[in-house]
Amino acid sequence: MRDKSLINKVAVVSGGGSGIGRASALLLAKHGAKVCFLDRSPDEAEKVIAEIKEQGGEAMVAETDVSNEEMVRKGIQAAADAWGRVDIVFANAGINGTWAPIEELSVEDWETTMDINLKGTFMTVKYAVLHLKKNGGSVIITSSINGNRTFSNFGSSAYSTSKAGQVAFMKMAALELAQFKIRVNAISPGAIETNIDENTNITDSVDKIEIPMKFPKGSQPLAQGSGSPEQVADLVLFLASDASSHITGTNIYIDGVESLLR
Ligand code: NAD
Repeated sequence: MRDKSLINKVAVVSGGGSGIGRASALLLAKHGAKVCFLDRSPDEAEKVIAEIKEQGGEAMVAETDVSNEEMVRKGIQAAADAWGRVDIVFANAGINGTWAPIEELSVEDWETTMDINLKGTFMTVKYAVLHLKKNGGSVIITSSINGNRTFSNFGSSAYSTSKAGQVAFMKMAALELAQFKIRVNAISPGAIETNIDENTNITDSVDKIEIPMKFPKGSQPLAQGSGSPEQVADLVLFLASDASSHITGTNIYIDGVESLLR
């Protein structure tokens, strides 16, 4: 059934060209939201836009590297200029970045991960607030089980720190923005079948710091495998819609209980 609370709402989705962002953008559009993609790969976003238009929806892309302040500001402004409002912000773009032992992880690699995952989230929310304040709205931030409930992906200290930082930022923002009827929540997926491996550089020397763990029956008790982007999109739709009108300041795990095991 269509969620009527999204009809004619404007959603800004970062990283909507692939994976979780793509599935969420398609679902938000299916329920009537107009979607502005902030993605550094506009060609990928254009393919999703074509799908949205085929199903009768409206969408546009603003080529944006979320670690670039001016691009983020302009991208969100482009959505507001096109449709006169911004109601939903899905701050989702992210990379796994470089996974390496701490003494070998370069400051540059640390900064790249922080700039995209954490600073990018901050800037996406920062430049949306002005618009969200007008009618209230919903912000959803894609964090991860890593850095929140799981610390066993050895070498992912930068990634996990960025994902933990997003949840702290979400809680600060939820309190600060509640007076404007802006809700702010995070989602923390476990392993989801996406293209994130393309933005993952696991160095060979991670072997040196790994602590062996054995799960003879597998490490994903519910599904015995990764979740799908579409399953995460259902959660994003819920948090974007009025069905979650009393939920803010919350981090929701979507991992088939994987993170409680490891
Ligand atoms: P994905 O690689 O399939 O999609 C990521 C999207 O973000 C792509 O469209 C890419 O172009 C875009 N992107 C990357 N860097 C960008 C930048 N600097 N500026 C603008 N766009 C950029 O990956 P995904 O798995 O769908 O990842 C989405 C989010 O989910 C990320 O924040 C990731 O950390 C998080 N996450 C993923 C998993 C998983 O297992 N896939 C688990 C937990 C959390």
